Amino acid sequence: MRIGIISDIHANLEALEAVLRELRRRNIERLICLGDLVGYGASPREVIARLRQEADACVLGNHDAAIFDEQIWPLFSPNQQAVLRYTRRILGPEEVDYLRKLPLVVRGQVATYVHASLHEPGRWPYVTSLEEAQRLFAHLETPLCFVGHTHIAGFVCEQIGVFRFRPGLRYVINPGSVGQPRDGDPRASALIFDSRNWALEFLRVEYDIRSAAARILKAGLPREYAERLEKGY
Ligand code: ZN
Repeated sequence: MRIGIISDIHANLEALEAVLRELRRRNIERLICLGDLVGYGASPREVIARLRQEADACVLGNHDAAIFDEQIWPLFSPNQQAVLRYTRRILGPEEVDYLRKLPLVVRGQVATYVHASLHEPGRWPYVTSLEEAQRLFAHLETPLCFVGHTHIAGFVCEQIGVFRFRPGLRYVINPGSVGQPRDGDPRASALIFDSRNWALEFLRVEYDIRSAAARILKAGLPREYAERLEKGY
């Protein structure tokens, strides 16, 4: 099974469409989204509609949760909150309901899918240290765990050494961000996991960044979110 894995779309329709085209061209059989459909970008309705059509499973991200849970707003900066207000203004009740019903964790046979970490997934920790990865491993019951949230593609194995998937070890894998990469490469990031030969394919996809940025400015959202798309961080 070829599984396309995407995360952190952040209402960037242009990036999402480009990634979906590329994943289809590479014959994925299933699509899984690791959350943060909204926030930062100007096209939350379109992104939600596309993912409802295309994704076989989707988990809840922190920006998604903030749409229906004001208690977590202190976790967001004033500019992020400005986008949350914009997003809430334009989403219909049915779209908000869709976000509300997204699960924090999806468990498959080989892989577990979560936005932030399995350790307190609703408190949105970032898996950016070995300590945080260890806390995740303590809750991991499948060989693989796919996470998003950091916007940086990569993976962690619970043991160092030459990399080859090995039975009995577990791995945390991040596909990077579709809509707002933060590793200095502005192209949209995504991943294909092929469970037949345990291959990971990290992809970068060019998209119309100018158009996504123009949409952010036109919507009156903070300029920094338009400018950072060009820079990739
Ligand atoms: Zn995000």
